Amino acid sequence: MNAKVWLVGAGPGDPELLTLKAVKALKQADVVMIDDLVNPAVLEHCRTARIVSVGKRGGCRSTPQAFIHRLMLRYARQGKCVVRLKGGDPCIFGRGSEEADWLGAHGIEVELVNGITAGLAGATSCGIPLTLRGVARGVTLITAHTQDDSSLNWQALAQSGTTLVIYMGVAKLAEIQAGLFAGGMSGEMPVAMIENASLPTQRECRSRLATMQEDAACFALQSPAILVIGEVARHAVQASLLQLSHG
Ligand code: SAH
Repeated sequence: MNAKVWLVGAGPGDPELLTLKAVKALKQADVVMIDDLVNPAVLEHCRTARIVSVGKRGGCRSTPQAFIHRLMLRYARQGKCVVRLKGGDPCIFGRGSEEADWLGAHGIEVELVNGITAGLAGATSCGIPLTLRGVARGVTLITAHTQDDSSLNWQALAQSGTTLVIYMGVAKLAEIQAGLFAGGMSGEMPVAMIENASLPTQRECRSRLATMQEDAACFALQSPAILVIGEVARHAVQASLLQLSHG
């Protein structure tokens, strides 16, 4: 049998949001290489797998990507069933495709398994529909953090008419706010900031573009958090008020 690596999404945190395919891969695994944002509770599905932590978080201790590549290759060449477990979905800001390409170039078969991405889970867990008929005809997933610090086309984003879901944005709130405002977005545009989405520690800060930075500071917003910016966030506020008044 050819050497194979499974690149698996572990979802946003809640272990019940794992896919059946991910569970199957974990059951078969000899080695599981996990990132920081993966909830260790999902490892209960492993039988005898060796668990290797290869997390890297902005600014903290980090495992170089080249080392992760070589380690996956070494285990795969030893004939081990390797699962590379990543938070959310492996191909949404997760370097899944980079790892798949590198492994493929070294003759290793790769199977990608989707996970529920944090932006989707974050919005849903606080009642925000990311698309809504007549309100938002699309969703844009964006990272606020880039390796080369290149800037985004804020004007295009502000005027896209889609819901903006921003990953890795906690340290970039000033830039996001200024960029969207300069790009023509109204200061009244609703913003939801969702920390630890889908976990028991989830917290949710509702704000608007004009005050999002102060509100996040008062709330002491911490990473990991997702920002949802768009009219849909207002809609969800109204829906929950309605529910309260009827409840
Ligand atoms: N591949 C992942 C994203 C990795 S980038 C996915 O599909 O979800 C890391 C960023 O994801 C964090 O900075 C944060 O913005 C977001 N994130 C991951 N898990 C999260 C969670 N449980 N709650 C809120 N944001 C989360």
